[in-house]
Amino acid sequence: LFNQVQELKGNIRVMCRVRPVFNTGAEGEVAKLSYPDVDKESKELEILGKEEKSSLGNITRKNHSFTFDRVFGPESQNQEVFEEISQLVQSALDGYNVCIFCYGQTGSGKTHTMSSADGMIPRATHQIYETASNLKEKGWTYTMEGSFVEVYNEEIHDLLGNSKDLDKKKHEIRHDDSKKQTYVTGLKTVNLDSPDTVETMLKQAANNRSVAATKSNERSSRSHSVFILKLIGRNSTTNETSEGTLNLVDLAGSERLKQSGAEGDRMKETQSINKSLSCLGDVIGALGQGKEGAHIPYRNSKLTYLLQYSLGGNSKTLMFVMASPLEAHLTETLTSLKFATKVHNT
Ligand code: ADP
Ligand code: MG
Repeated sequence: LFNQVQELKGNIRVMCRVRPVFNTGAEGEVAKLSYPDVDKESKELEILGKEEKSSLGNITRKNHSFTFDRVFGPESQNQEVFEEISQLVQSALDGYNVCIFCYGQTGSGKTHTMSSADGMIPRATHQIYETASNLKEKGWTYTMEGSFVEVYNEEIHDLLGNSKDLDKKKHEIRHDDSKKQTYVTGLKTVNLDSPDTVETMLKQAANNRSVAATKSNERSSRSHSVFILKLIGRNSTTNETSEGTLNLVDLAGSERLKQSGAEGDRMKETQSINKSLSCLGDVIGALGQGKEGAHIPYRNSKLTYLLQYSLGGNSKTLMFVMASPLEAHLTETLTSLKFATKVHNT
């Protein structure tokens, strides 16, 4: 359509972001990572693994290297990160379905990157708002309908609804297979027609999240939050139409949760997170094989079912894998980077 959509190698891109060390010393030992210089657009990341004893009794440390579409070092700013996704965001206005995920363990920087006041959600919405205003001259008018949900324990909660209803109201995912569209019942949607509404919406979502957090301390790290922006455009001169969706997803912490010892609600929670993250990997893997008519296990988790029409097909996906620079997080960091490598290679 009106902007040149960068052609993607495969449909899935993966970028890594290493967060800074905040308080040298206080956060514990820093792992031996080598990441790109601030001003270099690097794709490589190297990490020295944990000390291991060889069979001869020597202490060795294995070097792990990873290659992604881009690696952001700890000095990178959200502005730079956004520049890398700005084309992708734009393509939602051109009628594509776009999914951008943040994956990584708790504390690795997912929310800072995605949902903070300076993160990808407000930046993407502002860019869309501006581009849409510019396109008015060419005859395009857009409706921009935003919704924001939390997927917790395989249930959908409305982050824009009344906080009193957060856990009471039931929401169901409905697919219109002929139109290839997804609806969630009973969701509050907001018309994001000005930058002010975006800010109000983010505050409302943050407020609902904090209400949820008082119910369970760990809820925010154990739930996925999904911002959904539906963009419907119509050109009054040419009569063209376009329908695209931008999904920005702050995933649950990827740390492997111990099944043992967990009981009741905690057990349910643990199983839900492990299930939905591994299911996301399965769906991406199955899509990557690209066999026509192959079975894609979307239905195996609420998250993938919700995103069914934005994963695969005529859609574009990007995953940020977040890495912590701390030695204490090394094992989890390597696990995340290996998962991301698998996604990158599909
Ligand atoms: P997660 O959502 O993965 O659990 P957060 O985004 O909440 O992690 O990050 C943990 C803390 O580190 C927060 O206080 C956040 O503001 C800070 N932080 C994370 N990444 C960065 C970064 N790149 N620059 C500055 N602060 C960051
Ligand atoms: Mg978070």
